[in-house]
Order: sequence, then C-alpha cells, then structure tokens
Amino acid sequence: MKEYDALVLGGGPAGLTAALYLARSEVSLALVEKLSPGGQTLMTHMIENYPGFPEGVEGWRLADLFARHLDKYDLARYGDEVSAVETGEGLHKVKVGQEWLAAKTLIVCSGAQYRRLGLPGEKELLGRGVSYCALCDGNFFKGQDIAVIGGGNSALEESLYLAKLVNKIHLIHRRDVFRGQKCIQNKCEINPKIVFHRSSVVKRIAGDKAVEGVLVENLTTKEETRLDVSGVFIFAGTEPQGDFLPKELEKDSAGFLVTDLEMRTNIKGVFAAGDIRSKACRQVATAVGDGATAATAAHAYLETLHA
Ligand code: NAP
Repeated sequence: MKEYDALVLGGGPAGLTAALYLARSEVSLALVEKLSPGGQTLMTHMIENYPGFPEGVEGWRLADLFARHLDKYDLARYGDEVSAVETGEGLHKVKVGQEWLAAKTLIVCSGAQYRRLGLPGEKELLGRGVSYCALCDGNFFKGQDIAVIGGGNSALEESLYLAKLVNKIHLIHRRDVFRGQKCIQNKCEINPKIVFHRSSVVKRIAGDKAVEGVLVENLTTKEETRLDVSGVFIFAGTEPQGDFLPKELEKDSAGFLVTDLEMRTNIKGVFAAGDIRSKACRQVATAVGDGATAATAAHAYLETLHA
C-alpha cells in the first residue's frame, strides 16, 4: 500500500488550493480527483465575484488557472473515484479505484452535487430534457422554451446564461422572495426572455420520450397551469458528496462535515474544506480559503507527529 504524509480528496477549488499549500510545504502528497480539476467551477459559465477578475472569468478558465498553478509542483495524482475511507490511529486509509492508499493526514474536499427534487418524470427524463447543468446541456435547447426551477444564485445566474441561447425561460420559484443576490435577480428581471413564476412549484414533468411540458401549481391561488417546454433545468441547492465517508466523522443534519475554524473534523488528522463542509457561504472564494486553512492546519498536525 502506497503511503503519503497527506492525501487531498477532491480536485475542486478547495482541493487544488489545499494541495498547492501542502506541495509548497514539501510534504509527500497525493491528490485524488474523479474528473478533471476544477469541480463545480467547470459547470459554471461565468464567475463574477472571484476577486482579481473585474470582468468576470469563465468557470473552465479559472479551473485551468488553478490546475496550471498546481502543475508547477511535485505531487502524486490519482484520477479515480474514492469509494471508502477508513480512519485509524495515526494512519488513515483511502480506497481509490481498486487500490488502497494510506496517509497520516486527509483533507476531504469532495464537494457537493446538485439536489434532485424527486418529481414525477425527473428521473425518467434525465438527459432527455431534464438537466442540472446549463453549461453542459444549454446548447440542446437553442431557440426553444424551457423551465428553470429554483430561487438561489445558481438558478438566477444560469438563467442569465441560458437566456442567451433559448427563446423563453419560465423561472419557477416556490417562494415570492428569491434567495439569490439582488444584483443577479435584477438582471433577470429586466431580461425580456425570463418570465417569473413566484410562489409556484412544479408538480410533474411531462413527456414520453423527451420533456414536453411541466405542470405548475401557484401556491397562492392553487391554480394549475401546464407550460409547454422542452427542457427543465433544476437548481434546487446542493447535497454533500460524501457517501464514501465513515460514519464516525461528525456531520450536520444535511450530511455536511462539521469542522472547527481550522477545518479540523472530530477525527484527529482528518480535515475538510470547501462545499463538503457545514457552513453558510459556499463560494469559490470561501472554498479557496478553506483549502488554505485546512492545508496549514494539516501541515501543523504533521509537524507534531515528527516532533
Ligand atoms: P441555494 O442557494 O441553496 O438555493 C436553492 C434554491 O432551490 C432555493 O431558492 C430553494 O428555495 C430552492 N429549492 C430547494 N429545494 C426545493 C424544492 N424541493 N422545490 C423547489 N425549490 C427548492 O442553492 P444554489 O443556488 O445551488 O447555490 C448553492 C451555493 O452556491 C449557495 O451558497 C450559493 O450562494 C452559491 N452560489 C454562488 C454563486 C455566486 O455567488 N455567483 C453562484 C452559484 C451558487 P428556498 O429559497 O425557498 O429555500
């Protein structure tokens, strides 16, 4: 079994930053990433609130800059999925693909994924009109009418991106007040292609071989309306990607990892950073901050082992 001082699990902004800091500390290090480096930034068209990019930066470009920065350093890379973690006294084990790796310290940066709503038709029509990624699938709906579900920053920002491609967007949110930032909401409100359906929920996604419409209920009037759309984009928040994590790691009621301010979990030598962590603000900027904090604390922990 290969053994390292530190293993970083996940190659999003938190993981890439943690790996960068640890690589610069010259510890023996491996980074495990399931897909390409960048995590959820790869699914984001434009990031307008990451400092240093006054004109905004495309998600893939920021991911590429992060990855190229890390490429300057010496570390092992594993391009496979983590399926199990076993914590131990002083040494933790991680199953990556078919191989087990061991490390004195782990930084879990496995992020979050878009929440499924469990609507009738959602699972059946996934990839046939139902999507959770505007950047990946938006092009399929050029010139067509679509629905977007959600009222957070993702729903608003992705609606702005989709509005450049499609004919009309029905933006459906279950409350009359939006969770997303006011400045993004304002941009949506003046966009002639975006029609707001406040205090409304989708009850069913209709279609046989592909999406043909959604049944929407107005929660105030109880009126039900069928909207003819060929695509449904769902941005209803995120869920932790941590099925592989052991039950002894403390999680909040939604399954996100609980840490202290140094990103320490309740298990000695195990840290967490980024969207997998229980916290209020999930941004690229906070993921980067978490990654730097976790790596610094992990390095300090390694020093105590060598003392
Ligand atoms: P979010 O902020 O949690 O918003 C999720 C939205 O989905 C909420 O409006 C919520 O409604 C709605 N929702 C949840 N469950 C639902 C259900 N069962 N049926 C109908 N609607 C449902 O999630 P997000 O927009 O994906 O953002 C995730 C995190 O990333 C947030 O911290 C966000 O700020 C951050 N983010 C930031 C940016 C940016 O700053 N540029 C861009 C994207 C994402 P309620 O409001 O009624 O709860």
